[in-house]
Amino acid sequence: MKTTFRGLAVSTLAFALSASVASLSFAPFSAVSSAAQAAPKTPKVEAKGEESVPKGPTAREIELGKKAADELEKNPKIKLLDGSKDPVAKALLTKLNEMATDLGKASSRPDIKYNIKVIDDDDLNAFTLPNGQIYMYRGLIDFAGSDDEIAAVLSHEIGHNARMHALRGQAKSKTMSWIGLAAMAAMLTGKSGANIAQFSQYLLMGIMNGYSETYEKEADVAGIEQMAKTKWNPSSIVSFMQRLNQEEKRRPEWEAGIFRTHPPTHERAAAAMSEIQERGLPFTPRDVAGARQATVVDGKDRISIKFGGDTLFELAASGDTLEATRKRAQNVATKVNQQMRANLRMHEISSEGDASSARLLARGEELVRITPADAKLTGLSPAACAQKWRDNFRRLFWRETINGKL
Ligand SMILES: [Zn+2]
Repeated sequence: MKTTFRGLAVSTLAFALSASVASLSFAPFSAVSSAAQAAPKTPKVEAKGEESVPKGPTAREIELGKKAADELEKNPKIKLLDGSKDPVAKALLTKLNEMATDLGKASSRPDIKYNIKVIDDDDLNAFTLPNGQIYMYRGLIDFAGSDDEIAAVLSHEIGHNARMHALRGQAKSKTMSWIGLAAMAAMLTGKSGANIAQFSQYLLMGIMNGYSETYEKEADVAGIEQMAKTKWNPSSIVSFMQRLNQEEKRRPEWEAGIFRTHPPTHERAAAAMSEIQERGLPFTPRDVAGARQATVVDGKDRISIKFGGDTLFELAASGDTLEATRKRAQNVATKVNQQMRANLRMHEISSEGDASSARLLARGEELVRITPADAKLTGLSPAACAQKWRDNFRRLFWRETINGKL
């Protein structure tokens, strides 16, 4: 899980936006949502408490969300994973959308329909538009140690939406009460004005700037509450934050960037842990933290790709080629992780080759090409080495399936 972090590349999206928004950075898991759906009938709003917030998206939220999504996606720098062209992307998107649907239904606004898009970028980030449209960065998905941790991020995003943070932020009232919010929701159900486009830009700007500490904590609590009602383990909110915290320690400059506007991650992790315990939920972070990551380990004359304590493959390297081999190995580990997250099946792991060259494949896509030097490490021909690696991968796969990790 040595994901490459382009730590300070937080302004990736900034180019996309109009000049007025151009200097902003993104806060990771900020959220709002936008769902592609027909405008619902105007929800009834009573001016009292959280329960008065509409269960579905208001017409204004849908309109604002769509505009903001258009604004974002017309930026040529934003590359979305395309499920219609790439089967791995398709499987991943299907899974993410199923997760979000489950978590959305468990939220206090269960009628909002969520739709997930993945931005093909190494950044660790995610955000939501108020209509139910969630954007996740590939970097964040690669960084997560398990499906539960991915669900934790989605649940947090949905939590922002359930609490109407984007619109409350837009109303410039960080501490707007639920009564005020209900009144605002009533107002928002009216006919949209002509300045909707400008509004959507402010909205996008606000979301990308990150939310206040209060909102982040609210979203974490909502995230836990929602996960507790689904099959996803809320302990993953804590394990994910702890992992982020470790990464921040390793790369101080990174923290300064993406997490600029957030409460310190270790504080959020501690608060989330107390929340879980106060609710009497089991706290089992080991079940969800990084159980399913292929990682790269340096040796003297080889770079190993390991999964837990097991060695899957070993790539030959020495001297000058060590760095190049490390990159090659990282690439293989990333592909393995992506395939496993995208619901790979055991029979889809295959190998092919002959005495001079061989490859290991997953779903027909090349995971790794075996060089004669790699084969020499095993004392086998390239084709036999590919078979051995295939069997290693299948064995691991089988065990993970038995253990319920897949
Ligand atoms: Zn957030």
